[in-house]
This record gives sequence, structure tokens and C-alpha cells, in this order.
Amino acid sequence: MVVMVEKRFEGRDILSSSTNTTTTTEPPGFAATMSKLERLSPSRLHPRMKPWYLKRYRENPEGFEVTAEESLEGRNPLGLFHSKLSAGLHLGLVAWAPSPPTPKPKPDVRGQGVCFVCEQPFDDAYLIAGQWYCPSHESLAPA
Ligand SMILES: [Zn+2]
Repeated sequence: MVVMVEKRFEGRDILSSSTNTTTTTEPPGFAATMSKLERLSPSRLHPRMKPWYLKRYRENPEGFEVTAEESLEGRNPLGLFHSKLSAGLHLGLVAWAPSPPTPKPKPDVRGQGVCFVCEQPFDDAYLIAGQWYCPSHESLAPA
């Protein structure tokens, strides 16, 4: 009997906590970090990519902000940040190899990104010269 009562309370707790944390809630730290990156980047964050970044933030807010700080360099901090998050750097599991002094854009980097041309998110986008391109618009990227 006691066990049943406990279980019922447990269920109620889970229910109330899940209603408190809505998916649209943006932590202040997250918004500040993203706007700082956007200011210094040639492209803005696509609204459809925001949940992806929010998920990374929730995985490790501290690591997220540290990784963001470390991305505030180069021509496209937002793109660099995306690459680092994709690699799981915010989780502190892998070490980031700093790019050489004169980095050459690699035409064959694939990952999750928003196409620069059609502005649609793709899981297999190509990172070319700091911008993402979907398979159909890859040919429009600068050589
Ligand atoms: Zn496209």
C-alpha cells in the first residue's frame, strides 16, 4: 500500500517537472552566447537550427559557453562553433586540434548544417569556404 502511494507521487512529480520545462524556453546564457556568435559571423543562425544548438547547450551549458568563447575567431565563428559542437567538444570528450595558421577550405567536410543557398537544414551538408551547402547546391559554392 505504501509503495503504491509513493509511486503515485513519483508520477506526479515527473508530470509537473515536464510541464515546467517547455521546449521553447531559452536559457539567458544560451541567448547571449548565440547572439555574440551571430554578431561576429557573416551568416545568421537559421531559426530551424536553434533547437539543435539548444540541445547541445542542455547537454553541457558550461562546455557550450567555453566552446563558444573558443570559436570567436576567424571569418565565421558560428560555422566554427557548429563544427566544434558536432565533434562533441562542449562535452569535453575530445580535444580540438587548432587549425593551422593558413587554413585551406576543405571541400569535402560533411555534417549537419543549413544550406547557404536554400536555407534548409541538412544532415549531409557540405562545408565549403565556411558556408554549408546541401547536395543540390554544392555546385554553387566558390571553388
Ligand atoms: Zn540548398
